[in-house]
Amino acid sequence: MDADAVLAGKHAIVTGAGRGIGRACALAIARAGANVAIASRSRPDLEQLAAEIEKIGVRALVTPCDVTDREQVERMAKEALDAFGALDILVNNAGAAKSQPFLNHPDEIWDEMIAANMTSVYYVTKAIAPAMVKRGRGRIINIASTAAHVGARYVAAYTASKHGVLGFTRALALELVAHGITVNAVCPGYVDTPLTQIAIDNIAKVTGRSQAEARAALAHKSPQNRLITAGEVADVVVFLARDASFGINGQAINIDGGAVQT
Ligand code: NDP
Repeated sequence: MDADAVLAGKHAIVTGAGRGIGRACALAIARAGANVAIASRSRPDLEQLAAEIEKIGVRALVTPCDVTDREQVERMAKEALDAFGALDILVNNAGAAKSQPFLNHPDEIWDEMIAANMTSVYYVTKAIAPAMVKRGRGRIINIASTAAHVGARYVAAYTASKHGVLGFTRALALELVAHGITVNAVCPGYVDTPLTQIAIDNIAKVTGRSQAEARAALAHKSPQNRLITAGEVADVVVFLARDASFGINGQAINIDGGAVQT
């Protein structure tokens, strides 16, 4: 546990915690002293992570869940609340990304992106916010994307879903403010995770470039010419989750080396 343990005594839940950004968030929150409920569809990923979290000296609750399924979400929220008695921090991170030129766009990709990235945030927040309201405090942190601010070719559905998450964040921030709850979004550019590796594989396959060239092409989208690390995103999540960040509400914090300045 970190010496300053800014989240000591708190209880958190992180969706999509099995790998990538969610995994880094769960570990960073645990190092900051909070117990963490971890959710994603794959139980083995969660069990491995739970063992790492418990070594830090806090509790981990493995609660497998498909966040696009409302019944599973309600069960996950109940399990976490029963285990911890309260939830102070919700990180809505689970998500997926698929790309396809719009004129060739199967409806399934639209439905999948909206369900995985946007409706899931609604379901999970709906299941957990009432317990925060009852206690008069909470931190809801939505992992959106720079795609919540700007468009790009071939990702219409993903972009629409992330714009939706940011709109939801801003509206809810004002509605829940009276209950001591803040709602913020974190908007990373390309992060070095398994999701981005799939994008790199696709670029390499479609363009004939090497893996290194495809990775460099994504890195080049940042003025810092690099991919963001999952740990950098997790650090901002912990910052927003602190009691001392109460004044930060309804914001979208970009972590992209300066590519998007809005
Ligand atoms: P990864 O694919 O590396 O990890 C995603 C995690 O979410 C996995 O643990 C996965 O586990 C879980 N997950 C996916 N779908 C569901 C679902 N329906 N229900 C429950 N869990 C699910 O992704 P990243 O870590 O890269 O991305 C995490 C978030 O950050 C996403 O919302 C993404 O849009 C956003 N983001 C990512 C960026 C990037 O460059 N990587 C940039 C900007 C934003 P399982 O499959 O076992 O369910």
